[in-house]
Amino acid sequence: MGRIVLDKVSKSFGETEVIPPLDLTIEDGEFAVFVGPSGCGKSTLLRLIAGLEDATSGKVIIDDEDVTQVSPSKRGLAMVFQSYALYPHMTVRKNIAFPLRMAKMSQSEMNQRVEQAAGILNLADYLDKKPGQLSGGQRQRVAIGRAIVREPSAFLFDEPLSNLDAALRVGMRLEIGELHQRLKTTMIYVTHDQVEAMTMADKIVVLQAGVIEQVGSPLELYRTPRNRFVAGFIGSPK
Ligand code: ADP
Ligand code: MG
Repeated sequence: MGRIVLDKVSKSFGETEVIPPLDLTIEDGEFAVFVGPSGCGKSTLLRLIAGLEDATSGKVIIDDEDVTQVSPSKRGLAMVFQSYALYPHMTVRKNIAFPLRMAKMSQSEMNQRVEQAAGILNLADYLDKKPGQLSGGQRQRVAIGRAIVREPSAFLFDEPLSNLDAALRVGMRLEIGELHQRLKTTMIYVTHDQVEAMTMADKIVVLQAGVIEQVGSPLELYRTPRNRFVAGFIGSPK
């Protein structure tokens, strides 16, 4: 499960409304990409879904449950941060297990989940190393492993690759795409990079100044952009 519905959700910081009321549905198992220029509200929207920000109005619904008042840790979602959010003094195993330790899971179940995630991410030989001994791509996979072990109903990525070099970004896009194929779990991926959006998404949500300009598949947006902003952003020949 992992169907996410935003029902007239808005967000203001003080007097400033950064997201006017909007409706959006992400279907179970979908790979959705929020794309738009810097400052358009992508992170805020993701944080509203995660519960890291409270909506000013409207409802956040996950699998038919209104979670608007539910704390982030009880929403069943996992946010993937950039790899620099790893704990440098802890081994890979401890980094990946960290959210489970916080949830007071038993040692045996914790080990089982960590080893399963390490298998999926090709990290089995690195569990006793520390982040400083790993490559950038391996570190990013550890950050993803920390989300996988929680067995979330959806993964939320906020520009996870923006501090990686170009070659590594290409590789990590493939890794995340493969993970989605394998787990078939809902993923929401935030980026300002239209190439990332066009190559990774089932559904693209184009944002400008907190407003959804268009929602559609990459091909729909390319063929029938609703306006000049979408056309320009997606790079279609309108
Ligand atoms: P993006 O992720 O697309 O770059 P953000 O969601 O971070 O955009 O920001 C959207 C707008 O909301 C920006 O104008 C930003 O300055 C503002 N904003 C974000 N977080 C806060 C905050 N905690 N307090 C005040 N304004 C904020
Ligand atoms: Mg952002």
